[in-house]
Amino acid sequence: MYTTKRYQATIPVSDYLREYVDIPTFLECCKKCHNYETKWSCPSYDFDVLEYWQKYRVFDLTAIKIIFDKDYAGKTFPEEELQRIMEASVHRIKQELSDELLEKEKEYKGSISLSAGSCIRCGGNCTRKEKKPCRFPEKMRYSIESLGGNVGLTISRLMGIKLEWIEEGKLPSYFVLVCGLLHL
Ligand code: SF4
Repeated sequence: MYTTKRYQATIPVSDYLREYVDIPTFLECCKKCHNYETKWSCPSYDFDVLEYWQKYRVFDLTAIKIIFDKDYAGKTFPEEELQRIMEASVHRIKQELSDELLEKEKEYKGSISLSAGSCIRCGGNCTRKEKKPCRFPEKMRYSIESLGGNVGLTISRLMGIKLEWIEEGKLPSYFVLVCGLLHL
């Protein structure tokens, strides 16, 4: 169904903040997303986003390009089938990346990982909708974009890849998942 390609980059947090982070703009974009205030991994937040970044010194970025083979790339699928393909590819790799980064956190004392997109651990049933605490706070992580990071700019400049977004009912030729580890 697909192959993957891994990219890595490391940048000082101070440089990343200067070149790739625009908190007001991205938090404003988040307000238009259906995840806004319905997932604990997404804004609004009860902490200062800039201070969150500034607790760390180095940002190790990882991107995984999920490249669909010719039977899937650019093809149109019914909603249910598209969902199944996404589960078997993007969601599966996202979960693997999340587990990998949680392991990495143990190697770097005081580090924290940033996930590839919003949390999908509970499917569509995030407890924030019911104003209840997160079910897995020890595993939930914020995404780069939800903290104001420009993911498209990040991967094009630091890794030489472009983001491709899904069109209605159609699979793109590839997806890119971008995550990272903030450490001291
Ligand atoms: S772990 Fe579950 S409850 Fe917590 S943010 Fe993710 S989806 Fe929501």
